[in-house]
Formats: sequence, C-alpha cells, structure tokens
Amino acid sequence: MRNKSIRLLLITQATALLFACTSGTDTDAGPHPGIVWVRDAAEFDAIAMQVYRAASDDLPGLVADKSWTAMPGQKSYGELPPAIILDVDETMVSNVAFQEMLTSPFKNSMLYDWNANNNATAIPGAIEFVKLAREHGVELFFVTNRPCRRKPHIAGPCPQEAITVQDLVEAGIPADSDHVMMANEMPHWDREKVIRRDLIAQNYRIIMLIGDDLSDFIPCVRKKVHKPCTEAATAASRQNKTELFHRYWGAGWYVLPNPMHGSWTTFE
Ligand SMILES: [Mg+2]
Repeated sequence: MRNKSIRLLLITQATALLFACTSGTDTDAGPHPGIVWVRDAAEFDAIAMQVYRAASDDLPGLVADKSWTAMPGQKSYGELPPAIILDVDETMVSNVAFQEMLTSPFKNSMLYDWNANNNATAIPGAIEFVKLAREHGVELFFVTNRPCRRKPHIAGPCPQEAITVQDLVEAGIPADSDHVMMANEMPHWDREKVIRRDLIAQNYRIIMLIGDDLSDFIPCVRKKVHKPCTEAATAASRQNKTELFHRYWGAGWYVLPNPMHGSWTTFE
C-alpha cells in the first residue's frame, strides 16, 4: 500500500507540473509547451510507463476478485468475464506529431487525414500492458471519441473506425472493429462515453478504466451537455467528482497525463 501511495504521489506531482495550454502551434513561438513536453520530455515516457506498470501490477488481483468492478454502480457482475475499457488517443497511441503540426481550429477531419497518412506510435508501456491483459484472459475495448462521419469516395458509414483499428495495429496493439467503439457509431453513442461503458458493462465485469481525460472515467464532466447529462460541468464540479471517486485512482482507474488537449481545456 505504501508503494502504491508513493507511486500515485509521483504521478500526481508530475502531472501537476504540466503547463496550461491548448492544441495547436503558436506560429511566433513554436508549439505550446505542453506539446513540447509530451514530445521531448523523458518524464512523459517515465510517467506513462509508471501508469502501465501500476496497472500491470494490479491486473492479476483485479481479475481474480469477482467482487471488484471499476464501474461505480455496476450490478450483477460477479460471474461476467473481465474486461478493460481503454481510450485510444494519448492513451494507446500518441498524436503528439499531429498536435505539433496542427493549426487551430481543430477539426476531426484533420486528425483523420493525418492518421490515414502517418504511422501511429504507441504510448510507452501500452503494448506490454495490452499483451499482459490478454494473457490473463481479459477482453479489451477501445472506446474513443473519434467520430464516425461518412467520407466521399469511401464506402461505409464509418471509415474512421477502419483507420482507428489500423492505427492501433500499426502501433503494435492488435485490435478489431468489434472492440473499437467510436462516437456516433450507433445513433445514441454521443461523446458522453458512459453510454458505451454501460453497454459493455451489461456483458463484462469492468476491472479497469484507462484514459487521459476525466471523461474516460467519470460521466458529465464536460462544459457541453451530452445525454444522459443534464447540466454543464464546471471546473469545481470536475474537481468535486474527482475527489468523490478518490478510491479508484490508481486502483482500477489509471490516468495518463495530457497537457495538450482534453475536456479540461474548455474551462480555461
Ligand atoms: Mg484520449
């Protein structure tokens, strides 16, 4: 327990030192400091490996403990097979090279084009963690807010899903479309990921959540309201909820640092 406390303290301290910034390139001064930090600082790699080491250490115990779920409110899960829900961008694969060349405003089509034309690279520690989880018989679901949007001259309603699967595979993380859940892939799958988490939780005991954004863990932490949320989050409400669920951080919930973008930036 003491080791875990130290480990979490290190993660918290390092994350607290991150710069407040947004995506994009400042043409006068170069990329924002958060982008430079993710790109250049060995500390980013160290924190990412630390997060995945912590999750790996906890994995066997959480697989074995049928009384455990990382989904608050999940019911009747004891006999369900174990699963982990993972975010994709800045959790499994790095988009720092995209962030570096991005000029605001961000559009999802820009990320699609970049992903389609560049090889994805894994976040440090992610490949090894995914392999270990599968060796323990855990089903992995990649829940991403990359949206489905039809593209001219490309068949199917969600060419973005094929690119996302391709990105994961390129990065060394085997995946398929059955385990990648995109925003808008189904009519009711909006950006509020809890809808997709709840769906997975009908058939699996969710032993871990891993992501880089508060919304990868906690519902209704966005300024913009999506169903089933009814009111806009504030910086204070996000902090209150983070504290409310304190027992999960580093114990079923594992968060990667992202000073480049995320739901937190809308509260500046
Ligand atoms: Mg992400």
